[in-house]
Amino acid sequence: MKNRFVFAMLLLIAGMIVVLGVGCEKKEKYKQVGQHGEPEYPGDNAEIPGDGFADKDDLQNNPGKEPGGDTPEDGKPGRSFIVALDAGHGGAYPGAQYDGRTEKDENWKVASKIKAYLEANYSNVQVILVHGENEVLSSDLAEDLRLRVKAAADADADVLLSIHFNASENHESHGAMVCISKQANIHDASERLAKSILSRLEGLGLKNNGPYSRNSTDTVDDNGVPVDYYAINRHGANYGIVAVIVENCYMDSAADIPFMGSDEALDALAKADAEGLMAYLNSLPE
Ligand SMILES: [Zn+2]
Repeated sequence: MKNRFVFAMLLLIAGMIVVLGVGCEKKEKYKQVGQHGEPEYPGDNAEIPGDGFADKDDLQNNPGKEPGGDTPEDGKPGRSFIVALDAGHGGAYPGAQYDGRTEKDENWKVASKIKAYLEANYSNVQVILVHGENEVLSSDLAEDLRLRVKAAADADADVLLSIHFNASENHESHGAMVCISKQANIHDASERLAKSILSRLEGLGLKNNGPYSRNSTDTVDDNGVPVDYYAINRHGANYGIVAVIVENCYMDSAADIPFMGSDEALDALAKADAEGLMAYLNSLPE
């Protein structure tokens, strides 16, 4: 009888240790985020962005700003977002090339600048790059593009921005454009995101060519409706993630070169993209 009582007490103590242990682990997770100035979390059941995701170290290594820096652009306390960035092209796929510039390199610079800007100014955002510099996710181009979107979806990202520069045959087109899906599940949100980013790029002085959707000419969905022409948009719709292509400006246009031809100009583009993105995210219903 006495042994049974002792055994029961031991079980009770063991149970308390487990409960306390889980509690500490939970607190530790909050602490990791709190180091970067997250004002507060809505409750124990709130999901921590990046939890269980390979890139969560980014959160810890985020130089960020001083704790408690809950400036207005942080958004509402407790709201957190995951942003996926794709530097367009890379590796064997250079994208546009003009006047000594290669698009994939400019895309990488801007994507990296957007990441740095978001991490330095918004404590409620985790940013992932869906591939490394000049890293391709498959030697097959179509599969590479699908895997870029899949990486964003696997990270449970709120949005995927694919960063690009445009070019035209006569080298005379100019201005900013954002390619969006026309599929019903992500079209409206994509359009709002596109307009938000484009208004900031227009604010820099670029021509606003608006959101743009393009139909595939050879592929239809189950209802006979053409799917999106651009793979990032098409796969975004398939994975249910708002995935847009930001054509910041034309890299072969004399009118646009001042907007991308220097490191300072690329900083300004990245800032415009980032702030347009954040205005969209902070406008989302909770
Ligand atoms: Zn491109």
